Amino acid sequence: MSGCKRCNRELKTQKSIAAGYGPTCKKKQEEADAEFLKIQITIDEELAYQEKVKRR
Ligand SMILES: [Zn+2]
Repeated sequence: MSGCKRCNRELKTQKSIAAGYGPTCKKKQEEADAEFLKIQITIDEELAYQEKVKRR
């Protein structure tokens, strides 16, 4: 028995079961992950910048 990790609906294809998400939710999850990664990089860059400013 497996359901989508996001919406808890039943997963019908082997591919979806392997991914843990339905096709729509997988796409949304990937977009959310990409957004999260983008934010992470921004924070890292911000910290690097502040570190640089501090040393001046
Ligand atoms: Zn779903």
